[in-house]
Amino acid sequence: MGWSIGYDENWNRDIGYGVPATCDHPGCGEEIDRGLSHVCGGDPYGGQHGCGLFFCGKHLIPAGAKRDCSQLCSRCYSRRKPFDPTPDVPEWVRHKLTHESWQQWRDENPDEVKTLKNLEASHG
Ligand SMILES: [Zn+2]
Ligand SMILES: [Zn+2]
Repeated sequence: MGWSIGYDENWNRDIGYGVPATCDHPGCGEEIDRGLSHVCGGDPYGGQHGCGLFFCGKHLIPAGAKRDCSQLCSRCYSRRKPFDPTPDVPEWVRHKLTHESWQQWRDENPDEVKTLKNLEASHG
């Protein structure tokens, strides 16, 4: 199995290169995906050294050999508390609510679906 779509139980969100997102650096807004090339720590869920949030190239810093040369966000780089995650992009919310590949998920998670529908309504 690839890493196109998965679920991060720590941050409660969908991850993988199939998930469109915005950079988790506050105020950045750069469009990325939640694939390995954007994850803080360089491994799924952040690995040993990262927080597992997702950042654009400008907001990932290569750490030294002591930390396996992982790519880290500025918070993890300076060993501080992680940023607050950004919300899912509306495009992704719509995909989950409408795409056939998410039908089973929708059937199994009616409460989540309700939450997403409210979220979508609030986007207008
Ligand atoms: Zn981090
Ligand atoms: Zn960024």
